[in-house]
Amino acid sequence: MIATQIRLSRPGEMAVSWDDRHQSVISLRTLRDHCPCAGCQGETVLLHSYAPVEQPALPGKYDLKGAEVVGHYALQLRWGDGHDTGIYPWEVLRGLCECPECLNRRAASGIGRNLP
Ligand SMILES: [Zn+2]
Ligand SMILES: [Zn+2]
Repeated sequence: MIATQIRLSRPGEMAVSWDDRHQSVISLRTLRDHCPCAGCQGETVLLHSYAPVEQPALPGKYDLKGAEVVGHYALQLRWGDGHDTGIYPWEVLRGLCECPECLNRRAASGIGRNLP
């Protein structure tokens, strides 16, 4: 499964075309909130161990400034607050798809947003 085209479809939303012809739409907010980098994941899991308390959303946190394909297997996103360590493998990206089809399928399976 490979993304063949990535673009901003409208403000705040990314559209991804896949080689299996699936068309994904993913809001930038969802992308950022699911940032797979160690820093963001660490905040979620180890909030009280070492991460600074509740950071207010920085300006530009949900503004996408750049996207770059990394080694044909992932997408690296750069955000308006300077965060650029999130690398989204294709499977992760696809798992965040918010098209009606995927949302329905996830709702039906009861898995929700708890993705691997
Ligand atoms: Zn991150
Ligand atoms: Zn989908």
